[in-house]
Amino acid sequence: MAAVPVLSYSGVRSYLECPLRWKFLYIDRLPEAPRGYFSFGRTLHSVLEELARPLVIPFPRRKGDATLQHTLDHFAGAPGAAGAPRGGVSPMDREAVRAAYARLWVSEGYPTKEEEVRYRVLGEEILLRFYDAFVATPPQPVAVEEHLEAQWDGIPIHGYVDRIDRSPTGGLEILDYKTTRNLTRADAVGSDQLSFYQALVEKNYPAPVESLALFDLRGGSELRVPRRSPRELAMLQDRVGKVADGIASEAFHPTPGRQCGRCEFRPLCPEFREVPAEERARLGGLVDRFQELREEERRLDRDLRSTAEELHRQAERLGVYRVPGSRTVAHRQRETRRSYPAEQLRPILEAEHLLDRVSAPDPGLVERLAGDPSVSRAVRRKISAAGTRSEAWYWDLEDGPPASPRNG
Ligand code: SF4
Repeated sequence: MAAVPVLSYSGVRSYLECPLRWKFLYIDRLPEAPRGYFSFGRTLHSVLEELARPLVIPFPRRKGDATLQHTLDHFAGAPGAAGAPRGGVSPMDREAVRAAYARLWVSEGYPTKEEEVRYRVLGEEILLRFYDAFVATPPQPVAVEEHLEAQWDGIPIHGYVDRIDRSPTGGLEILDYKTTRNLTRADAVGSDQLSFYQALVEKNYPAPVESLALFDLRGGSELRVPRRSPRELAMLQDRVGKVADGIASEAFHPTPGRQCGRCEFRPLCPEFREVPAEERARLGGLVDRFQELREEERRLDRDLRSTAEELHRQAERLGVYRVPGSRTVAHRQRETRRSYPAEQLRPILEAEHLLDRVSAPDPGLVERLAGDPSVSRAVRRKISAAGTRSEAWYWDLEDGPPASPRNG
């Protein structure tokens, strides 16, 4: 088993999209060419970090199972402690935001100078609009761009959380800045990244996480949603566990999909590698033979079905079950199948609190339930009555001497 590295959210997502791409990135450490939109996001994150950092009042952190790291909060009345006046703490002014933006601008990856200028103008608009809202209602951050690590069900995970704020009720609120276009509240509801951060924050802070938000930087709005339930976190934990298992067992198969369009590793990927010219004729012959056999298989399958149907019709006409051939005897057999339509079965199971016994209408499980003496006879009858019965005929070939025609 291979060692599992500390997993980030983007690592988990990358593995789920394509394990081979994950290997290229995280094991082989192949570099990716810079991209303008990554540079743009990085620049905005850096400026927003500088803007919010002066307001940070640290919050107690877990050091181990039972101990807490001491912070200003342990010294009531200290400047900057929770509840203490924020004397001297003021965010930068508009000009300082512009200056930080110019200083922190990352220009790599833009396809043209014009594209870079277009993004640069857009970024300034975004930052100044963000700044106005920020100073009008300053948040109470307890951490910005915080690197957190944790063990999640024995799996090491880590991540940088854009901002963690103190909620009005003393809990924590997680915020993730996004430069993606057309974000909606549904994106925040379905964001695995926010769930991942909730798990990280809960394992590092004793205070409860109360809400999660994506900040839509282009639209200038915060998309805030309630914290994830334990069940929702368990579902993500399950996926993270599958990723860890896949990495440990070195399962790095290519999984082609939409992501291939932006994957720089296509020249290395077996899904897109071409057969060498000198091998093409020989392998092409094998492919042609395979195709012929496949077509033959389909033709035989059709012949087999129509012969069995004709045999069945003739056996029905004569009322016989066994038909001798020259070498074997064909024996007609009957198979009874039962099925249980979910819309009829579910109300019965629900009313009798039996849904945990049969979560999907699997006929085998339902029949076992219908025969279970611990279930009342009346309920068993109801379950049986919800099923529908169908019959299918099929032919078996039996060995043995062919039947000889009777004389007289
Ligand atoms: S090209 Fe597609 S299948 Fe191949 S490594 Fe990249 S993402 Fe995976």
